[in-house]
Amino acid sequence: MGRERTDRKLRKKPEAADRPGSGSFLFIPEGKKNERDMKKQTGKLLTAVLIIMTALILGGLCWNTFSLQRGLNQTVAQYVADNNRQLADHISFRIRAGREFVTDLADTLGRMPGFLLTQDLLSRKAAAMELEGIAVVSETGGVKMAFGNTSSLERWLQEEGEIWEKPLVSYVKDQNILFSAPYASEEGSRTAVVGIQEYQDIQDLVKRADHQKNEISILLDTGTDEWMMLEKGADILMPDEQIRTLLAQLPGPGEERHVNIGGNFVAADPVEGTKWLQITVIPFDFLTRRAGKYADIYFLLILTALAVFGASLFLIVRAAARKEQMLLTDSLTGGCNRDGFLKLCGEYVNRRNQAGYSVACLNVSDFRRINSYWGEEEGNRILQIIYHTFSEDMGEGEAVCRSGMDHFVLLLKEKTDEAITLRIRSATERINEVIRRRYLDTIEFAIGVCRIAVAGNPSKAISSAIFVGKQKAGGNVCAFYDEGIASKLSLEKELEESFDASIQNRDFFICLQPKVASRRQEPCQAEALVRWLHPQRGVIGPDQFIPLLERNGKIGELDLYVFEEVCRLSAEWIRRGKSVTEISVNISRFHLKNGGTQIWKKYGQIKEKYRIPDGMIELELTETILIDTSQVGFVKEILNGFRSCGLKVALDDFGFAYSSLTMLKEFEVDTIKLDRSFFLNESKRSRKVVANVIRLAHSLDMCVVAEGIEEEEQVEALREMRCDRIQGYVYSRPIPVEEFEVWRDEHEK
Ligand code: C2E
Ligand code: CA
Ligand code: CA
Repeated sequence: MGRERTDRKLRKKPEAADRPGSGSFLFIPEGKKNERDMKKQTGKLLTAVLIIMTALILGGLCWNTFSLQRGLNQTVAQYVADNNRQLADHISFRIRAGREFVTDLADTLGRMPGFLLTQDLLSRKAAAMELEGIAVVSETGGVKMAFGNTSSLERWLQEEGEIWEKPLVSYVKDQNILFSAPYASEEGSRTAVVGIQEYQDIQDLVKRADHQKNEISILLDTGTDEWMMLEKGADILMPDEQIRTLLAQLPGPGEERHVNIGGNFVAADPVEGTKWLQITVIPFDFLTRRAGKYADIYFLLILTALAVFGASLFLIVRAAARKEQMLLTDSLTGGCNRDGFLKLCGEYVNRRNQAGYSVACLNVSDFRRINSYWGEEEGNRILQIIYHTFSEDMGEGEAVCRSGMDHFVLLLKEKTDEAITLRIRSATERINEVIRRRYLDTIEFAIGVCRIAVAGNPSKAISSAIFVGKQKAGGNVCAFYDEGIASKLSLEKELEESFDASIQNRDFFICLQPKVASRRQEPCQAEALVRWLHPQRGVIGPDQFIPLLERNGKIGELDLYVFEEVCRLSAEWIRRGKSVTEISVNISRFHLKNGGTQIWKKYGQIKEKYRIPDGMIELELTETILIDTSQVGFVKEILNGFRSCGLKVALDDFGFAYSSLTMLKEFEVDTIKLDRSFFLNESKRSRKVVANVIRLAHSLDMCVVAEGIEEEEQVEALREMRCDRIQGYVYSRPIPVEEFEVWRDEHEK
């Protein structure tokens, strides 16, 4: 009845509320935390990249704009300077032409008879020079003859005294430019010819200059400091006062007069042959204003480009971060996988705080059973429950991951074995509470723990924890990887590396352990047991290196070496006519498993080489070969092979495994060696078993050896049970060949 109820309970499907992700389980903590941490990191990186890029681009932009402006200013200044010089040259040219013309005319008139001076002559000369008027004046008589507009003449004559002494160029404000040259007339009075040029002609020149809209052009008479002409560009808003102040700062003659003054570029060039100065002023800010407009557009374009670039960068980095995230995440639990875990370890654990950290590797024992009973889906749920229960238990700077199928790794900030054991026990108990509630079942873990400081880094600590966890299978008991195991592993590594050289060097030797015939009480056989005389470490027993060679696949080499040593010894005994003891040699089950069905041929060849008679050597095969090969036919073929070349076969460690009786049923062997475990904690019951096994073996024509016998009374009992041979410390430990020969000689007597 009770059982029925339990069965029904067992088949109950888990309640919805119990399901991971619904209700009672909050599947967030560690995985999401890791994810958030990683996102934060990516975000930081992204921001830093963007800030640096923006700063670089903006810096470049500012520098570029500044250089552009400076370049523009320089170019414009140069241009304005050239223009101004050209303008001054043009004016000079005009003035020179006017002056030369008037001087020539004066010269001609001085040499010409007076009556030839007619108005007609003057009008022709004025037309030729495009003058507004021409006049001939005398100091005493005033205007003697004139042509054209001479309105400005009278006043000028009063003011200009030097006219009778030398050629002059004069300026009548806003009216004319006057060219005069004195000459001596026939009457002897002081005479001069005056060409009147319209002021407009020069002004036109000035006006025709470039940059009319942005510059100020001034023709300054330095003699009077008067502005002869002032042209202000339409866009220029500079009061006359400001212009005056500006010009007051202009360097004197003889100095560089293309200069920057108060944000303006000022170019001043003398008009040759006069005291005039042609000046152009151009404020730089008009340039900046213009360039500024372009710079704004330029800036806007770059900002847009920057925004597009930033957005693309963001998308690329986010995609990369997502990809990386995926690579570091375990899809089943949503937390990190082994790689993600190692990355976190790298962040949390550094060289200095290694001492405070340990890793624990937990492997669910017999998870296949869970999967096959509950189905894969529920199996996955259980894995999620395990992961999330652990992750809830993780503190600051700790982490958990599912590193493989049913493997979990914890990074714990704990130092002592007790604290680690306690934490793991409480977490596994909580896991089992949930599993018991949902499935009426519990699970066990194989647990290995390793301190990071012992292993050197998190990755090695994980390997070591897994290694030590495998040694103690299951039971929720923590196995700690310590210095002892570490030195054992380093010894194994050293042995592994020196094996080849030692085989070459023949550093391996055999010891013989006698087997004594129980009835006759005399030595009848011996077992060859290998020893390694290591060049650095001295004599090493097989337990320290055989498992290692079985793992790395080199055991076959050693087995054949020992077999050959035994053959050599037997042949030696025969050659020397000594008594020859039958010797048994061990073959590793790994050697048998991997050596193929033709393995016996190698043994046969060596036996032939040393001409060993049949039946002299026995091979000891452990009865677990069936577990390894699981092919009865395969094993039979090998056994028959050995026997066909005259080698006997014994089943070693008989009774140790579950398959002992199957072995007897399937295989014909010469001997069975009862395992030492039969004789430990002996009872009436176990003796009965032994007695009947012996009887059974005899009925199958097999010889029985009891091994590991240490007590005299065991010998007595075995003799009564008709056990054929006895091997054990009670007679002798395995001893070197020479010692064995002495022992044998003594006991044969
Ligand atoms: P095994 O074949 O079962 O060898 C018997 C082991 O039990 C030997 O240990 C032997 O010294 C020990 N022994 C013998 N009598 C007694 C006793 O009265 N009390 C106790 N406590 N122990 C006893 P050993 O020499 O250390 O060999 C250990 C194992 O190494 C062997 O177990 C065998 O499996 C393996 N082995 C030794 N030599 C070879 C070899 O040449 N090839 C292979 N494949 N394995 C070998
Ligand atoms: Ca053996
Ligand atoms: Ca044995």
